[in-house]
Amino acid sequence: MKIISYQELAFNEAMQVQKGMNFNVKKSYSIVLMSTLKNAPYADKLLDDGIIEYEGHDARKHDSYHKKEVDQPMANETGTLTENGKFFQAADNYKSGKREPAKIKVYRKLRDGVWVDMGFYDLIDAYRVHDGKRKVFKFLLKPNFDDIKEVEEFVDLEHNRMIPGEVQREVYERDHGKCTQCGSAENLHFDHILPFSKGGSSKVATNIQLLCAKHNLQKGAKFV
Ligand SMILES: [Zn+2]
Repeated sequence: MKIISYQELAFNEAMQVQKGMNFNVKKSYSIVLMSTLKNAPYADKLLDDGIIEYEGHDARKHDSYHKKEVDQPMANETGTLTENGKFFQAADNYKSGKREPAKIKVYRKLRDGVWVDMGFYDLIDAYRVHDGKRKVFKFLLKPNFDDIKEVEEFVDLEHNRMIPGEVQREVYERDHGKCTQCGSAENLHFDHILPFSKGGSSKVATNIQLLCAKHNLQKGAKFV
């Protein structure tokens, strides 16, 4: 799971990703930006089984105080679907067997300008809940491992995806955004010091470190 700058994110996707929800902006997938940090604007959650509960987005025209008071909209005033509506409709069509799950590329905010490439997820469900003030959308995103060929890579990625956001942030700050072996700030990955398969935890910063791609690969080879 790679740590990237916003510039790399935009370069990878060949577009400026400005909004949090971007339905079908690529030929075969959509893009969402998420954050589980304490100051995050939306209540995105990483559930224990690796599923992301992604919150829908607020109406755009209201000022920042009032937009947290009104229901998140399904449609714009002109009747066209909002991003909420587009994702909701795709989940609905999947649930009723009309389509395959929509493929979603997820990026998770680590800090300003720094993102974690979480890989692909399937949009498997969508519903509306009352958050105490108003109705908000919730979307369930399930990790998609279709592109992963090797079992080890699968286990590694599965558990990397479960590192809580606050732990990611703590590790990134502690290691000063650099590989703990060589100090490189390029191509960084989160690494389990003791691999999950050997009993290592994904939930504590003391078992996670930053490694560059080279040292991440070297370490992988050692444990085979
Ligand atoms: Zn290194």
